[in-house]
Amino acid sequence: KVHKKLDFIREIIAEDLSSGKHETTITRFPPEPNGYLHIGHAKAICLNFGIARENAATGARCHLRFDDTNPSKEEVEYVESIKADVAWLGFDWGDHLYFASDYFEFFHDCAVALIEKGLAYVDEQTPDQIKETRGSLTVPGTESPYRNRSVDENLELFAKMRAGGFKDGEAVLRAKIDMASSNMVMRDPVIYRVMHTAHHNTGDAWCIYPMYDFAHPLEDAKEHITHSLCTLEFEIHRPFYDWTVENCPVPSRPRQIEFARLNLNYTVMSKRKLLTLVKDGHVSGWDDPRMPTLSGMRRRGVPPEAIVRFSERVGITKFKGTTDVALLEFEIRDYLNKEAPRRMAVLDPVKLVLVNYEEGRSEDVEVVNNPEKPDEGSRKVSVSRELWIERDDFMADPPKKFFRLGPDRYVRLRGGYIIKCVGFETGPDGEVTEIRCEYLPDTIGKDAPEGVKCKAAIHWVSAEFGREAEVRLYDRLFTDENPDAAEGGFVSVMNPDSLNTITAWVEPSLADESPEWRCQFERIGYFVADRFDHVPGEKPVFNRTVALRDSWAK
Ligand code: ATP
Ligand code: MG
Ligand code: MG
Repeated sequence: KVHKKLDFIREIIAEDLSSGKHETTITRFPPEPNGYLHIGHAKAICLNFGIARENAATGARCHLRFDDTNPSKEEVEYVESIKADVAWLGFDWGDHLYFASDYFEFFHDCAVALIEKGLAYVDEQTPDQIKETRGSLTVPGTESPYRNRSVDENLELFAKMRAGGFKDGEAVLRAKIDMASSNMVMRDPVIYRVMHTAHHNTGDAWCIYPMYDFAHPLEDAKEHITHSLCTLEFEIHRPFYDWTVENCPVPSRPRQIEFARLNLNYTVMSKRKLLTLVKDGHVSGWDDPRMPTLSGMRRRGVPPEAIVRFSERVGITKFKGTTDVALLEFEIRDYLNKEAPRRMAVLDPVKLVLVNYEEGRSEDVEVVNNPEKPDEGSRKVSVSRELWIERDDFMADPPKKFFRLGPDRYVRLRGGYIIKCVGFETGPDGEVTEIRCEYLPDTIGKDAPEGVKCKAAIHWVSAEFGREAEVRLYDRLFTDENPDAAEGGFVSVMNPDSLNTITAWVEPSLADESPEWRCQFERIGYFVADRFDHVPGEKPVFNRTVALRDSWAK
């Protein structure tokens, strides 16, 4: 086991365990079910579930909690996709699946307790008045004329809010803290609002809903979360988090710690923007292989292990920054280079005829499955008289440094014979339509005979036995490093070539593989059988996960 330096959050947790402040650590991942998870969420998942896993010996655990207190934006479809994505990444919440909406009664009791302590009041100013009287960073806020209502009056009015006696926007419950606080968040924040909207879990039971800043610390405390890890934007909210935990009747005292969120270049990550891409039809759905969502990456063929390693490599800090998407691509290639079996596929085919190979003859040759994993042995692939090779593996008039096929030149067919080009044919526009070669008998698995210069091996597919496959060549969705900052908006810098669908020739066995099966198309890149559209034996569909080399490298 490698001992890596602990990040600052793991350091705090280790200290809390060794000092005896906590016997174990309980973390949570709290998505709002208003969209699909993206690669940024993966960072938070790996952090929270990772900490629980590393401290399992102390009984540590990580809760999956749906933060579903806002009834207007949430959908059940999202709950299911989020569960599937967390499990796909390899994490397990065990029995600890929670819905914040199950705590509505508890939030309400806490609000009542604040009112009883004189720490909350019903404000009947309009939403605009409340906004205007908050002041600014340089100007203190103004107290509401309703601020000094009696406890009894507030209890009565809050009960009226709950009973439906106010319309949306007519009344809110506010914490009574300090309208002159230098921290705007502490200027009597709204903790409950009236919303006559049905909720996916509680239906019409409630017409008042707690605000995120009030509900979140209470959810954490209710679940005995020890360390509540969130992104840096919440740093200025921490005093209110602590105030809530301090003043409400809660069973535990969680601690909020903030870390820098993941930002990736060439990517947009906010759920709102991803929803726009889906709704406006720029992509085929949340799981379009070009999306930075976990379900999109899954469909693209990205191994979950690579995402976990990427998250570890990015690390946990307090520094805001943007990570190069090339780092993610590096982890994907690094993982797949070791794990993915090699197969042959010809994406831009041109016919090659072995003129001295009898018609109707065929034989099996052994091709290595994965040079990184000798244990995986080899497979049999059939050679025939007519083959497909890649158009750019042939040049009619090649320069000296070109080691592939050209007139009178030799090349090896991967796993098979050395062949010599003896001619070629062209079509009306001068394009090569057929390459004619002679094979050299007795060269399979053997060095080139005296006087034969053969410096390269090319991939090939038998025209007789190969299968046609739909291949989707995906590329980055944006051409601009920072799509969020583009003058015409992120949609204006979408890559027009982010999807190129072609028909390729593939080794026959590829057509029978299962959806989500991954491999390397030799010399081309990593591909996956599409999770939904690939039908084994009937309709092979492969998605390019990533090319072998980074074509975007500057
Ligand atoms: P978005 O801003 O993309 O809509 P969100 O933060 O509103 O995302 P939530 O569902 O509230 O989405 O997020 C669940 C958890 O994931 C939160 O704890 C949040 O801090 C974390 N998270 C979201 N985006 C990132 C990110 N880019 N990097 C790290 N953690 C993130
Ligand atoms: Mg959120
Ligand atoms: Mg958000």
